[in-house]
Amino acid sequence: MTRRFKLALLDLDGTLWRDGHVIEGAPEFVERLRHDGVQPVFFTNNSSRTPSEVVGALLRCGIAAESNEVCTSAQAAAHALTERIPAGSTVTFVGKTGLEEALTDAGFAAKRARGSELTEAWVKEAKAAVVGMDPAVTYLDLAVVTRVAHRLGWFVLTNSDARYPTEDGFLPGNGSLGALVETASGVKPLVTGKPDRRFVEFALERYGATASETVIVGDNPYTDVLAGAAAGVYTIHVRSGVSFPEDENAPVADETVESVEKIFRQ
Ligand SMILES: [Mg+2]
Repeated sequence: MTRRFKLALLDLDGTLWRDGHVIEGAPEFVERLRHDGVQPVFFTNNSSRTPSEVVGALLRCGIAAESNEVCTSAQAAAHALTERIPAGSTVTFVGKTGLEEALTDAGFAAKRARGSELTEAWVKEAKAAVVGMDPAVTYLDLAVVTRVAHRLGWFVLTNSDARYPTEDGFLPGNGSLGALVETASGVKPLVTGKPDRRFVEFALERYGATASETVIVGDNPYTDVLAGAAAGVYTIHVRSGVSFPEDENAPVADETVESVEKIFRQ
């Protein structure tokens, strides 16, 4: 069955690992893809980590990977900016190294929003504002991004996940930071992570595959499955990660399995 695909876009959290521990069968699944000539791509909404940091985390889980096989929502955000503002422009952001590196690699002058430097000149310089996750972000940092977003009439949100699941509940996610900026600035974000179909299309272009040659695998119906379905890509929902209350309107995948271990076994 893998023969029909050239590219597999693999979610990470809840799909290949959970709470920092590898999900059983995940390393063998990735090896099986390689053996069958399917390019695995580690396709993540997490904008905090750089590709080499993601590779390190995968290696600790026993999954062999290379940096150029990692595709992040931060890279999708940077790509979206290349279509909207000139190379070399100053982009202010909140987020971590993964976003800073993606913006720099795309040719922008990435400037982390610092509330302590909040001045009118500083706010006027930026040609774009990007919101990515950073647990250490402050009110005044978000104030900088909000003022830039308000002046420009738009901003970029790397992903709209409202919550991150934890073992004992959840933490506010990047979508919640974006909601603050949206409310205060009065402008809507351009969201570049899953479920936005452009993130999938960015990956198809980058790795040279068509939608019909690609499969997306993930644990979240509202991000992974929705993104795949929107882009016309075959979707596999794994039940190894987040669970949601029963929702009859939840996006339905082409296939549902307990974990990646069960994929392509038939
Ligand atoms: Mg996930």
